[in-house]
Amino acid sequence: MKRISIFGATGSIGQNTIDLIRRDPNGFQVVALSGGQNIQQLAKDAIDLRAQIAVTADDALLSELQTALSGHPIQAAAGRGALLEAAHRPVDICVSAIVGAAGLEPGLIALSHGATLALANKESMVAAGALMHKTAASSGGVILPVDSEHSAIFQLLQSEKASDVERVIITASGGAFRDTAFEDLQHVTPEQACQHPTWDMGQRITIDSASMFNKSLEVIEAKELFGLRPDQIEVVIHPQSLIHAMVGFRDGGITAHIGAHDMRHAIGYALYYPTRGDIPVERLDFAKLGQFTFQAPDLRKYPALGLAWDVMEIGGLAGAAFNAAKEIALDGFIDRKIGFLQMAEVVKQAMDALIKDNMMGDDPLSLECILATDFAARRVAQDIIDAVRAGN
Ligand code: NDP
Ligand code: MG
Repeated sequence: MKRISIFGATGSIGQNTIDLIRRDPNGFQVVALSGGQNIQQLAKDAIDLRAQIAVTADDALLSELQTALSGHPIQAAAGRGALLEAAHRPVDICVSAIVGAAGLEPGLIALSHGATLALANKESMVAAGALMHKTAASSGGVILPVDSEHSAIFQLLQSEKASDVERVIITASGGAFRDTAFEDLQHVTPEQACQHPTWDMGQRITIDSASMFNKSLEVIEAKELFGLRPDQIEVVIHPQSLIHAMVGFRDGGITAHIGAHDMRHAIGYALYYPTRGDIPVERLDFAKLGQFTFQAPDLRKYPALGLAWDVMEIGGLAGAAFNAAKEIALDGFIDRKIGFLQMAEVVKQAMDALIKDNMMGDDPLSLECILATDFAARRVAQDIIDAVRAGN
């Protein structure tokens, strides 16, 4: 039995993970489950899976959680401190599935205790790739990607030599506005951006898919996870979302990872690694599928995508600043303070301002420095949004 904790258990990745755990009652012993606002789901899963502790990140929801768990031998806890404390509990696997930079610290803590980190929280690698690797190296912990493209690359690289890899091609669905003209993007709403054509995911990553900020994060994530040079990474739109990634080798051969668009495959690969589990995803019938198509992303429609290469060129803590500014810009769009295309402008301006005013930290191995850069980027991005609104 593997001891497992799931941070972000009430979210889309968390619920898919729980689905797999339920199907294998003898495979896993649940230590901690964490959630945010969705207390009823958190309590229900903690009871069903006999978790040791259930934690909500929101202090104000402690009594609701206690009430929901009353009569069950499960500890209830609340607040950021309790979340981080729960991450110290010994486990074999920690699933990092909180959305945003808030997911960084719990994952780092689990990793520092030598756990295997099943990493859905791509923001961790973008903001703190070097620190994640250093922490794993010093504790003996392992980072296994759960992001579907990165799980695909990881699988394609098994028993390959890094020096044989020429390029990595990450596929993108194109998001909600794949077939929308550039001219029409000015006035699209958050509700429209939430309509993903293929994947069923949380609200924030779905909107990030429409803007391709998600792909931008994934390009940086790939660089950090696999030690790639920026010029080795390519993105292609593949509307069917069935090829998740491809790897090109120096002999000209290209391997592709293909599978249904169901996150349980990538999650299951991490849960059962280095073996494979019986995962109930759809088995593809190629004759029925007909065709796979590809197109180049239009950088005018997806200005966020190009920013990934700027971030990688700047290096250092640029990823932490980029991710934080992106989170604020996304909030601004969700709250209807800025338009869809303005998100990339805000992030670009925030990055420029941070560099100009020397506000980016200089030690990518220091958590303090990463958090300070994150904080500064959020403030600068918020100021830019406020200025945009004042000018409107
Ligand atoms: P969701 O929005 O569905 O779930 C997020 C989870 O994090 C919920 O459990 C939520 O609690 C919790 N949460 C939210 N804010 C905080 C906070 N400040 N502190 C602690 N917990 C918090 O997200 P997804 O499952 O879609 O995504 C999770 C991560 O996985 C993201 O990093 C995303 O980029 C990545 N990912 C997701 C994929 C997907 O298919 N969904 C695919 C690849 C990567 P509650 O809901 O109870 O408030
Ligand atoms: Mg992905």
